[in-house]
Amino acid sequence: MPRPIQALIHPDALRHNLAVLRQSAPDARLWAVVKANAYGHGIEHVFAALTGADGFALLDFDEARRLRALGWRGPILLLEGVFELRDLEACSRLDLWHTVHCEAQIDMLAAHKTHVPQRVFLKINSGMNRLGFAPHQARAAWTRLNALPQVDEISLMTHFSDADRPLGICDQAAVFEAATSDLPGERCLSNSAAVLRQNLHARQAAQRLPASDWVRAGIALYGSAPDFGQPDAIDVDLQATMSLRSQVIAVQQLQAGDTVGYGSSFVAQRPMRIGVVACGYADGYPRSCGSGTPILVDGQPSRTIGRVSMDLLAVDLSDLPTSGQGAEVTLWGYASSGALLPIDAVAQAGGTVAYELMCALATRVPVLADAALPEAR
Ligand SMILES: *Cc1c(COP(=O)(O)O)cnc(C)c1O
Repeated sequence: MPRPIQALIHPDALRHNLAVLRQSAPDARLWAVVKANAYGHGIEHVFAALTGADGFALLDFDEARRLRALGWRGPILLLEGVFELRDLEACSRLDLWHTVHCEAQIDMLAAHKTHVPQRVFLKINSGMNRLGFAPHQARAAWTRLNALPQVDEISLMTHFSDADRPLGICDQAAVFEAATSDLPGERCLSNSAAVLRQNLHARQAAQRLPASDWVRAGIALYGSAPDFGQPDAIDVDLQATMSLRSQVIAVQQLQAGDTVGYGSSFVAQRPMRIGVVACGYADGYPRSCGSGTPILVDGQPSRTIGRVSMDLLAVDLSDLPTSGQGAEVTLWGYASSGALLPIDAVAQAGGTVAYELMCALATRVPVLADAALPEAR
């Protein structure tokens, strides 16, 4: 028998979340963001469920190639654009649209020999200060691009730094609007959080947000609420798309004063039973999720005990007398009983975000790619 750990990918949940995002942005076309190997899910594992999107957005040529190999003929957008001149040949060959965020990328386009002009997304830095032209440079960059025979249609794009907070997109949206209001072209603004909060923003701010012709949805497709844990988090009906499960492979009976794991960081206050689970940080379970992180054993709530080590972690079985060796453990997602442990709750206990947990799923964890959602959710 293989080591009992397994990641389950739920295509029905991906389809459901895509439909939720569509309802939130009914007039926009939707990029399914599949960078980082579809947020750790595996591009090949999510592809069929996401073909209802209008395009796929990612960073790597290898991932773009894999999408074409899967038969995707629609748009693919490179979110960071090209890195060197010959990347533009790959763009021509694979028919990729690409972001232009700096002068060097315009220089490369000007030097690119092609007969087929390329579709580009001009990125404006509206306040996040990662990628993009400063607002006052937007017009000059657009004018330069527009004069190039290598360039086809030009769309306009920006990225929000605080879309998971109430009214967190208003200031940047205003900066973007002011910098681009007289430029033609489709607009591509919202990430998951902005899509889910868009209506709220429009109502509360009594402000017209620039229309997003395209939205870029990542994390919400994968069932994580971008504003999880905030007092005013909006309640959306997303389903978990990844469940990480393993088993109790050993049971220990502790006496008061006994310790568990490296560093003896957990000390039993009284006699108790613990289960030892075949999952550790080398599987992608964060080391920061030691003592107290929520976890399910046979679908029942429990907590981790002591430090997470490379291949193992411990769970509290004190209140679970019928669970022992071989018990199913759900690290996040759905237990086979249908009980749900939100990946956001695990991430929060470890001081991180669901993005990091999903992306860190280790290649040594076997994946069941086409897992049905449990009946009794
Ligand atoms: C990753 C990424 C997204 C998707 O963000 P989510 O929060 O996962 O929806 C959108 N736009 C850009 C530029 C990105 O890099």
